[in-house]
Amino acid sequence: SFLVSTLGKPKLSTNCLPSKFQNPVYQNRKLQNLDIISKLRDDHDAIKLASSDYGNMVHEIPASVLYPTSINDIETLIKFAHNNSAPFTIAARGQGHSVRGQAMARNGVVVNMRSLKNHRNGFGITVSGTPSMGFFYVDVGGEQLWIDVLNATLEHGLAPVSFTDYLYLTVGGTLSNAGISGQTFRYGPQISNVYEMDVITGEGDFVTCSPEKNRKLFYAALGGLGQFGIIVRARIALEPAPKRVKWVRMLYNDFSAFTKDQESLISLNGRKQKNALNYLEGLLIMDKGTPENWRSTFFPLSDHSRIISLVTKYGIIYCIEVAKYYDDHTLNSVDKELQVLFEGLSFIPGFTFEKDISYIDFLNRVQSGEQKLQSQGLWDTPHPWLNLFVPKSHISDFNSIVFKDIVLKRNITTGVVLVYPMNRNKWDDRMSAVIPDEDVFYTIGFLHTIGFNDWETIDLQNKDILQSCYNAGIEVKQYLPNYKTMEDWQNHFGMKWRTFQERKAQFDPKMILSPGQRIFNNN
Ligand code: FAD
Repeated sequence: SFLVSTLGKPKLSTNCLPSKFQNPVYQNRKLQNLDIISKLRDDHDAIKLASSDYGNMVHEIPASVLYPTSINDIETLIKFAHNNSAPFTIAARGQGHSVRGQAMARNGVVVNMRSLKNHRNGFGITVSGTPSMGFFYVDVGGEQLWIDVLNATLEHGLAPVSFTDYLYLTVGGTLSNAGISGQTFRYGPQISNVYEMDVITGEGDFVTCSPEKNRKLFYAALGGLGQFGIIVRARIALEPAPKRVKWVRMLYNDFSAFTKDQESLISLNGRKQKNALNYLEGLLIMDKGTPENWRSTFFPLSDHSRIISLVTKYGIIYCIEVAKYYDDHTLNSVDKELQVLFEGLSFIPGFTFEKDISYIDFLNRVQSGEQKLQSQGLWDTPHPWLNLFVPKSHISDFNSIVFKDIVLKRNITTGVVLVYPMNRNKWDDRMSAVIPDEDVFYTIGFLHTIGFNDWETIDLQNKDILQSCYNAGIEVKQYLPNYKTMEDWQNHFGMKWRTFQERKAQFDPKMILSPGQRIFNNN
């Protein structure tokens, strides 16, 4: 198409008329009369950004990119597309940190949500309440980054309770999936910590929704993969922020001891909620050269060689990572509380490691990893990442079939492999997010760091992992799902599929929104 041929040849003007005349979105006379016309761009830079994402494997070229300066601009665009005789697709793009083109819109319009941030006049992040008033929440634009939300709330001595490992993601982007990390077992995913939202539906209606008001849209949009509306504001729960964090890792050579201890640490039975851990994750250490990974530098250099000896001996070492927050008034009790929590755990004696860092440095721990990869030119390479939820009853099979028989044997996995459990009762089944049907399930994240050439080999391995799980009857669910056929999507949603479809018909009947997910627009 004309747009394809212009990619790679930067244009001089952002309002380059020749291409607009050829562009189906602009050709529409009615659109010419709308005031958003000046905010639509089809210049090289705008199109290049909108047709790429963190995954760097899928590239879909939109007809145009909206740089909104108000919520109204988004309403106008969606209304126009909805009422147009030939509706076109629209995708909100947060940070574009999806890996399979989920925020793209081939021949449609991508809304560059981050453009809103400069036009909020200070209202992009508004904290209400204080610790002394006893209530607090933050109203946040869907375009805002979690790091900015955290910094703004910390100024009031407050913070959200549930995060992602990496904070340079938008609120709208993570709420469209779930938003998970080591806090999820205790506080639920980020979608479980939202009180209210403003959403612009696929018909262009601005709707305020909550569990009390317009609840169908509220539950649809949370974990809704962008299918029901564009989230332009979310009201998020806050708690008083702690000051510091005890961050501990312990090593295991036995998978069942590793998972047994993880499960015991996340179970709140018998442990007072108040004294429970604030964060729990787990990871594999397989690299015989270093026990570190790109996301964090943790182990003392002097201990590297004895950890590597373990890896050489056992092939895979399993590492539990936990954190306990503390404050001035818990400064003297935190070590004792950790000791109690660790009683009876079966890590390898002598292989526990502890760090004591500030709360913000802990939450923002992945950023130094990003900087490291940026400096090595490894941040913008392809990312064939695979994230799965695995039911607890099959986690041991998963270890033998996937970790031992595929990952270890092929020896091509690079980067981070995360393995940690969460409690189903911290998720709300009315929301669109899909999880396994067991009280405890694990998240497994294969977060590869590779060069530019070998992503297809990793992708083949991903397919083999999924196929092997299927063959063995392990009912995994993909997190940040990517499927090619309607049948696969139906299987993914299972019992929720009918509701998902009904909600689509109600809130986006012309199937305009987030076509890059390829659920309803999969050809
Ligand atoms: P985008 O990729 O821009 O969009 C994602 C989807 O949401 C698209 O379909 C888009 O159309 C839609 N969308 C975007 N904004 C809105 C909106 N305002 N309203 C409605 N729909 C919208 N995830 C975790 O849960 N935990 C992690 O720890 C974690 N760590 C990560 C670390 C890195 C380095 C990366 C690259 C990703 C990580 N992710 C993690 C995945 C991340 O949560 C998702 O990729 C998320 O979609 C990224 O947000 P984004 O702002 O980049 O969204």
